[in-house]
Amino acid sequence: MKRDSVITIDLSTIRHNLKVIRKLAGSDAGVMPVVKANAYGHGSVKVAEALQNEVDWFAVNSVDEGIELRDHGIDLPILVFCVPNSETANLYTNFNLTATISELSHFGFLPAGTEYHLNFDTGMGRLGIQGDRVDEAVLEMEKHSALICTGIYSHFATSDVPGSEMVEAQLKRFKKIRIRFPDHLFTHIANTGGAVFYKNTTFDLIRPGIGIYGYSPAENVIQGLKPALSWSSKLVQVNPIRKGDSVSYGAHWEAPRDGFVGVIPVGYEDGLKRVLSGKIRIGIGGKEYRQVGNITMNYCMVFLDQDRHDAGTGVELLSSSKNDLSNWAELAGTIPYEILTSLLPKIPRVYE
Ligand SMILES: *Cc1c(COP(=O)(O)O)cnc(C)c1O
Repeated sequence: MKRDSVITIDLSTIRHNLKVIRKLAGSDAGVMPVVKANAYGHGSVKVAEALQNEVDWFAVNSVDEGIELRDHGIDLPILVFCVPNSETANLYTNFNLTATISELSHFGFLPAGTEYHLNFDTGMGRLGIQGDRVDEAVLEMEKHSALICTGIYSHFATSDVPGSEMVEAQLKRFKKIRIRFPDHLFTHIANTGGAVFYKNTTFDLIRPGIGIYGYSPAENVIQGLKPALSWSSKLVQVNPIRKGDSVSYGAHWEAPRDGFVGVIPVGYEDGLKRVLSGKIRIGIGGKEYRQVGNITMNYCMVFLDQDRHDAGTGVELLSSSKNDLSNWAELAGTIPYEILTSLLPKIPRVYE
């Protein structure tokens, strides 16, 4: 635990976001929320518990993430995205997890009784059986009848923005592959962007991740989503500062006038990226103040101007009522996904 700050997660907001995405996807497809990376920093067990009665599957990246959900009593089907290997091969049946076959060699070492989905690469250039090996995949599948195929999927490379021709091309390739396999397989390709920004992508299941946590995958804002996460801390010290005095490493920021500087015990170890130094605002007592000077490993400073807040006063780094985190991502030259998964796991998560 690192108790200098607290991350609060509103689980009812995650349920709200799920409804918004379902509605925008405009189909009665099932939902497979993606809870990899500790549910994008929100806590995979808590998120899965909050959603389990409203969804059909869960998806994780690693086998261990799947085992964690099973250990906490989650009993919906769980798809594991990652590449199986000889070390993890036996764990799928032991923990009732669904493997992904993303290369023909995977047929060779998964034990009898393993359930799997086939993953085809239709343009992402990451995991998946190459699109020109469909004939071989059909043969392997028939040959390995002791393995149980329950689904077939692919993944979009450019669905974070609307109107991408590549999405349409991938969809076309996927449909062509899909018809070579039995009808009953669960079919899925759409992440948040795919489901919300494109038509006819939903098939049997959608796989939203970022959207259920309340963020849009890129600049195109998905209306109705609300961040479920807020991040707060406290001033640990408040110092008077004289005009012209500097703050933090490098002494780059100088006070424009006499006033006060507050010290917040949150820094880049916690996931407050150093590139955000001097760029963000911090909420204190309903007002916003500039973060000033370089963000350090464990602290950052805020210019309180004439407001002499006491040490111990609460501060809001990220608020769920505003879309601060998307703004941070933009300022940091990255995407909300990276900011979320940078939040230190040791920061306590509180649920409401
Ligand atoms: C992470 C991931 C998703 C979820 O994507 P979002 O953009 O967060 O909705 C879906 N499918 C696969 C294969 C993924 O790796």
